[in-house]
Amino acid sequence: MIDKRNFYINGKWVKPSKSNDFEVINPSNEEPFAVISLGSKEDTDSAVKSAKKAFEQWKETSKEERIKLLEKLLTIYKKRSKQMSEAISMEMGSPIDYSISTHTTSGQSHLEDFILRLKEFNFEEHFDSKSNNQISYEPIGVCGLITPWNWPINQIALKVVPAFAVGCTMILKPSEIAPISGMLFAEMIDEAGFPPGVFNLVNGDGAGVGTHISGHPDIDMISFTGSTRAGKLISKNAAETIKRVCLELGGKGGNIVFADSYPNAVRDGIRNVMSNSGQSCDAPTRMLVEKSIYEKAIKDAADEASKIKVDVASKKGDHIGPVVSKVQYDKIINLIKSGINEGATLATGGPELPNNLNKGYFIKPTIFTNVTNDMEIAKKEIFGPVLSIIPFETEEEAIKITNDTEYGLGNYLQTEDKEKAKRVAKKLRSGIVYINGKAADSGTPFGGYRQSGNGREGGTWGLEEYLEVKTITGWK
Ligand code: NAD
Repeated sequence: MIDKRNFYINGKWVKPSKSNDFEVINPSNEEPFAVISLGSKEDTDSAVKSAKKAFEQWKETSKEERIKLLEKLLTIYKKRSKQMSEAISMEMGSPIDYSISTHTTSGQSHLEDFILRLKEFNFEEHFDSKSNNQISYEPIGVCGLITPWNWPINQIALKVVPAFAVGCTMILKPSEIAPISGMLFAEMIDEAGFPPGVFNLVNGDGAGVGTHISGHPDIDMISFTGSTRAGKLISKNAAETIKRVCLELGGKGGNIVFADSYPNAVRDGIRNVMSNSGQSCDAPTRMLVEKSIYEKAIKDAADEASKIKVDVASKKGDHIGPVVSKVQYDKIINLIKSGINEGATLATGGPELPNNLNKGYFIKPTIFTNVTNDMEIAKKEIFGPVLSIIPFETEEEAIKITNDTEYGLGNYLQTEDKEKAKRVAKKLRSGIVYINGKAADSGTPFGGYRQSGNGREGGTWGLEEYLEVKTITGWK
């Protein structure tokens, strides 16, 4: 059993103020493999105190000093990337090859990109040539960073790195379900030699440390990624102290497949939604298919899904792993049953365990056809390997159905008609639209409309989230 019960506060690994052990479960075999502590108000207070003290000096450091430390962290991250991939596989069930190729590299690419953006960023600028006003960008202060389990190091890097880069200090609370990658990252930060108090890590759950952070009077900003449910609670709790609250929340993406899409669009859409076992906030979980190709599309979809292997995370090769926990497993199975009860057609998959497995939180890639947008499976974020296919007749109808959701994170569209693609992309109400499966470039902003949140992470936008903007008159 891996013992990770200490917290990282003021540059040291310290014991929690009172012991409160919490077992971390490997979702591939349902067995605990590590133990952490759930922190208390005292632990949070102590981390915030150290971050507040460290801010006084850290905010005065030069961009060059911070770049140097970030470059050191990048070197260490690359050196220890194997450990990172193994931790992610164990804690959230991502197959080891996928952890290496996707999860771990996401942390590295955020580090690389933020270093680049920081080098280009001007913290001072003159308002305009006629004015004697100066605009100054200053770090907001002490940040509370709360992250989820589904892309653990991706989310941590998207917050910790820009906060560092602009001169903020911080307290990180990783997901208690998948905390090991975050603790490893803390070890790397320690090894890189960041000054004590700049970065602090306290583990805990939402009701405990999460709530202490969001309501803390000495925390200036919260950056939260997780469920819309928790985002609402955090916003309410933070309101009393008027702190900045940046939210990256859930999604229920649409993937519009027009009749003139490229030949593999349906199959690619299936692979996309099933990757990471369906546990991605921008997964295209509603596939909208034009009626004239509907029958072929549902055959292709079921065929592609049935080819996707499900297996334990430690096994090498191309397959999907379990979902993260018993709670998530039960939620997904209940939603699959609700789809059957509401009259959607189960094209493949279903609530039973895959044949090759009798233990672990495994779910078969599941496809529903003949879904209507008012069914629970089309409305709720399922967060498992489950796709709903909905037919449409016109472009307007496809846009209307896609936008008919309380979320607005990532939408997708497939067509060979460039003009139609641009027209539809502009009408979709989401923070990102992927045309013909093209990935977003490193450093582009990521975030949601509506109940998918209000922040933008990544690149220059990601740096700006952690800055205050000051106007100084009479500068010249
Ligand atoms: P979650 O909301 O249950 O937990 C996320 C984090 O918030 C955890 O660290 C948890 O301990 C903490 N938390 C929970 N309740 C809290 C509270 N009341 N106060 C303070 N902290 C609290 O979410 P999850 O199940 O870990 O993650 C999955 C969710 O994250 C999905 O909805 C997914 O769409 C979303 N997500 C969004 C993005 C994005 O960029 N928009 C990226 C990844 C995941």
